[in-house]
Amino acid sequence: MSGNQVKKATAHIRRKIGSDKVLTDPEALTCYAFDATNMRSLPTAVAFPESTDEVRTIIAMCHRFELKMIPRGAGTGFAGGTVPLEGGVVISTEKFNRILDIDVGQKTAVVQSGVVNGVLQREVAKHGLMFPPDPSSLEVATIGGNVAQDAGGPRALKYGVTRHYVTGVEFIAWDGSVVEPADPMATGRVWDPLGTLMTGSEGTLGFMTQIRLRLLERPRSLRTVLAFFADPVGAATAVSMILASGVVPAAVELIDAVAMGCITQFVEVDIPEGAGCTLLIETDGRSGEAGENMSVVEGVLKEARAMGYRTAESDRERDDLWKMRRSISPSLARLAPNKMNEDVCVPRSSLPALVEAVGKLARKYSLLVPTFGHAGDGNLHVNVMLDRRNRDEVRRAEAMVTELFEVTMKLEGTISGEHGIGITKIEYLPDQLGPDGIRVQGDIKRAFDPQSLINPGKVINRS
Ligand SMILES: Cc1cc2nc3c(=O)[nH]c(=O)nc-3n(C[C@H](O)[C@H](O)[C@H](O)COP(=O)(O)OP(=O)(O)OC[C@H]3O[C@@H](n4cnc5c(N)ncnc54)[C@H](O)[C@@H]3O)c2cc1C
Repeated sequence: MSGNQVKKATAHIRRKIGSDKVLTDPEALTCYAFDATNMRSLPTAVAFPESTDEVRTIIAMCHRFELKMIPRGAGTGFAGGTVPLEGGVVISTEKFNRILDIDVGQKTAVVQSGVVNGVLQREVAKHGLMFPPDPSSLEVATIGGNVAQDAGGPRALKYGVTRHYVTGVEFIAWDGSVVEPADPMATGRVWDPLGTLMTGSEGTLGFMTQIRLRLLERPRSLRTVLAFFADPVGAATAVSMILASGVVPAAVELIDAVAMGCITQFVEVDIPEGAGCTLLIETDGRSGEAGENMSVVEGVLKEARAMGYRTAESDRERDDLWKMRRSISPSLARLAPNKMNEDVCVPRSSLPALVEAVGKLARKYSLLVPTFGHAGDGNLHVNVMLDRRNRDEVRRAEAMVTELFEVTMKLEGTISGEHGIGITKIEYLPDQLGPDGIRVQGDIKRAFDPQSLINPGKVINRS
């Protein structure tokens, strides 16, 4: 598309939605060129719609002038999903962030896609309700981003992931038409595969405007414990033992010694000498239930030879433990300028084998690989630290990631437990889906986006 055409298209969008809602100066564009992967590519413009009608207008203009469009929430994605690989208009949900309804009786909420997860959590908590998906980025990440990525989080072990709570999606299709959910009732039975397809589609099928969510009652009791082990394999074995005990904790998070080392420089945690791995475990339920379940977990911890454990004695201590857990990912920047953050996931019984394999691969490729994650779900974040200016290190890191994916698939696991495919895993997807899966996925993309205008270059390689 020529520079003149681009200018014409952005001038049209400005005229329709207001010039204060469209950025084109290079300094501003650089702020929308990347996500949490730090991969970069400049957009042509960034638009900030405030209503469904404004989103519709922007997309209709992009369609008319054949400009690429890239939906963007908070940009915390770990797969390059919002990076405007081929330029185009980034459509940000920054100003599209109203909670439209909370129905306490029905236990549902309707939100604009830019609502921040943590804001929704606090609002529904005022009514004794909870929205279970809790990615560690919840204070920044948006519901639109959560739905597009089908985000998980610590509570996925007991409560499932985002798709289990999406009951309807309104979205704008590639040509600017508004597609509404077929069924107004969360419990209805009208066949509506569109919302299901939008969930986890990583912004490649349309722009989600409104999302209807299912809520649950908030648990009345919580117990949180930090348990210490000599090494990650021992901790992973304890995870399998806890889950075999019949208790389903709300969360079981694993943090290896390197990851723990990054945060203990800022947060005071009394860790026994020689501890090589930590588990953060939470139980919840009706009054008294969390305590009963934690007693069972404590019995298993002793059996699994934990070096010791510490129980949070107050809400404040519990909050501090979770703040500590959520600060691991950003704190890794202390170790190296770059990281390849892989979120591999295996059946829980294979977690010890995965943890062992990660240790072996780190030694084989002489790389620092802090590992942590939602172990109860079999979902581990394997962070290969590197300096991208060092070619040899890049080569070793890439080889390690390839081998990590091979091991994961041999263990009947998945190459992405929650962060998605985006750009970073696109070349590995055929190994996971096989040729027929890839072909059908391409057909779905073509049906939703025949001109490849929506978030091109992500998830699906179209030839
Ligand atoms: C510190 C940290 C911790 C994290 N912890 C977790 C975790 O525990 N669990 C987890 O699952 N993820 C986690 N993530 C990854 C990330 O936060 C999630 O994927 C999150 O859901 C992304 O939300 P976002 O608003 O930042 O979306 P963005 O990064 O802006 O976008 C992500 C994708 O969604 C698409 N998208 C965004 N909005 C829309 C829309 N309205 N319509 C259509 N498509 C849209 C984009 O095009 C893109 O492909 C973490 C990230 C960080 C940085």
